[in-house]
Amino acid sequence: MISFRKEKHIKTFHNPLNNFAPESQEVEIRFDPLLDHFAVFNPALEDKVRLFFGKHDWSLVEKVAEATREQCFMCPPKVREITPKYPEDFIPEGRLVRGECTLFPNLFPTTPRHAVIAVGEAHFRRLEDFSPELVADGLALGLDFLRLVAEEDPAMRFGCVCANFLPPAGASLVHPHFQVVANKEAFPQQKRLLERSFAYYARCGKNFWEELAAREKEEGERFLGQFGRVVFLASFAPLGGNEVQALVEGARGLSEITQEDVLDLARGISACLKGYAEMGYGTFNFTLFLPPLGEKTSWFTPHLRLITRQNFYENYRTDDYFLQRQLASELILTPPEKMAQVMRKFFEEGGAS
Ligand SMILES: [Zn+2]
Repeated sequence: MISFRKEKHIKTFHNPLNNFAPESQEVEIRFDPLLDHFAVFNPALEDKVRLFFGKHDWSLVEKVAEATREQCFMCPPKVREITPKYPEDFIPEGRLVRGECTLFPNLFPTTPRHAVIAVGEAHFRRLEDFSPELVADGLALGLDFLRLVAEEDPAMRFGCVCANFLPPAGASLVHPHFQVVANKEAFPQQKRLLERSFAYYARCGKNFWEELAAREKEEGERFLGQFGRVVFLASFAPLGGNEVQALVEGARGLSEITQEDVLDLARGISACLKGYAEMGYGTFNFTLFLPPLGEKTSWFTPHLRLITRQNFYENYRTDDYFLQRQLASELILTPPEKMAQVMRKFFEEGGAS
């Protein structure tokens, strides 16, 4: 049985902003229903989000975009001329192409197989400009690549499709791009998710993710919408800023993710990015978590986790501090239920059920 556990702690101190009068401060701790993880929320901070997150400066992004446009190897025609190529026995054409997207090897890989996907021909775009079709082409290339990786070397059992958008999210180029990583070992976070999902199945005889989707749809507060069989939820105890989870229900692994699923996933990502923009955010990361590439599992559901990162402006402060980087917790700035209210409009506009 899934439980959404919260604890509230109230402590008093003397507030110099109010003549040292005693003041009670409340901290809410939310425990993730699957992982050993909790996120913290202080309602008093909610109005002070802007102290942590300055205004995203699109004119600065445009300035950086202009300064880097000439050199950008992801801009056409360079992306299909001068980027690295895979050997013919792995990918005959050297690169994978779909619509406006191109996949090629990362020049400095951090896993045995590590590809970059240039997403779209535009050197720079705003969050509202990631159309479902564009995102779907990028994701589809990532999944095609993982299928080829698994075919070529079955020892490469683990892979993820990920994204960093703009420097505060870890991107070194403003040109939108996704990345695909594949490895013999599961990545630590992926391993936690897989192990915990398996343990839940062994204990309860049920797929945690199917249970989660059913429960959240029933309760409704954090349910954003559904495209096809892809269910979108705001995380109860987020692992990152404003986290959304997209569950591909019924797909037991990479081989069961259809092109329709990819488009449905992309429809929801596109809606979320519009929602983030409305909330005043301008950057993001995502990761698509999969079970072992060649396997079908009834205890794990492929799902993508999408988060916001610090906004881009001069002298921005990172949003990751010891709480996230060393204690592996997370700060909730906007309660997930409140974020869901903003997001739902864009899901409805996109035709979600
Ligand atoms: Zn470019």
